Amino acid sequence: MAASVIDGKQLAQALRTRWKLRADRLNAAGVAPGLAVVLVGDNPASQVYVRNKIKACGEVGIRSEEHVLAADSSLETVLALIDRLNSDAGIHGILVQLPLPAHLASAAVIARISPDKDVDGLHVHNMGSLLSGQPGFVPCTPAGVMEMLNTTGVNLRGLEAVVVGRSNIVGKPVALLLLQAGATVTLCHSQTKDLAQHTRRADILVAAVGKANSISGDMVKPGAMVIDVGINRTPEGKLVGDVDYAAARERAGWITPVPGGVGPMTIAMLLCNAILSAERCAVARGIRLDI
Ligand code: NDP
Repeated sequence: MAASVIDGKQLAQALRTRWKLRADRLNAAGVAPGLAVVLVGDNPASQVYVRNKIKACGEVGIRSEEHVLAADSSLETVLALIDRLNSDAGIHGILVQLPLPAHLASAAVIARISPDKDVDGLHVHNMGSLLSGQPGFVPCTPAGVMEMLNTTGVNLRGLEAVVVGRSNIVGKPVALLLLQAGATVTLCHSQTKDLAQHTRRADILVAAVGKANSISGDMVKPGAMVIDVGINRTPEGKLVGDVDYAAARERAGWITPVPGGVGPMTIAMLLCNAILSAERCAVARGIRLDI
């Protein structure tokens, strides 16, 4: 039987509706949630991602600002902008769109963002909080992956989870969140010997590689939950994930599509983090929100 499709678009819409109420409450209390998006250069894919994030902000009642810097901007220029946004009381979240041009060290740029405004959850402070199980901002894509798994209603405790990809943005935080949820986690990467031997054991399989067809149908355990984070463009211009969707759907229990899977969830989780940040700020100012 074909897998149930976890519809990221629908799930993201439901989340946005729920969180819009919280944004409305903040706006009514005089705290307009504010998100600043920093784009350096003119990478067309990044421009699309930024446009989508700004549009989504408007739909839930978050005030957003787009700061576009030239591709050849110096590190000092980028850091000066971040400093200004850090000290702007009307900004509750700062997002630097990655990747940055090669001459800018993204670690240095992210390290400059105030951890309290790091709604992407990439600052080492928030990464450390995630590692040690303390509250902080959870990176958006991994948080979206967990929301998608949770909609299946399956208890993740004790399940075998295999994450393919170990980036700081996706693979590692997904592995930590699965560990927190009680799964037994294996983290695979380009040096992994016999990837299929691992994936075939996975009750939960998360693919975050960035290469189409990294996961073929026969690498999927029958009945597994398959979350495809990858976004790849075929030579024909079609967007596909890392998983051979048609073949994997015949074996999996649940599967996420590309497009319309993890992508919309990433944006939804960013909105949640921005609203959460504004709520924390309001509470710190002694404003009652009755959440
Ligand atoms: P990275 O390139 O940073 O990481 C890719 C990971 O895949 C690395 O850990 C790499 O291993 C591993 N890898 C590469 N080849 C293989 C292989 N043959 N077998 C097993 N592992 C392999 O990518 P990201 O984590 O940033 O992104 C992954 C994908 O997810 C991309 O397609 C990206 O576009 C997409 N993405 C989607 C988002 C969304 O919202 N849907 C958000 C963020 C990313 P090693 O470390 O050894 O090099």
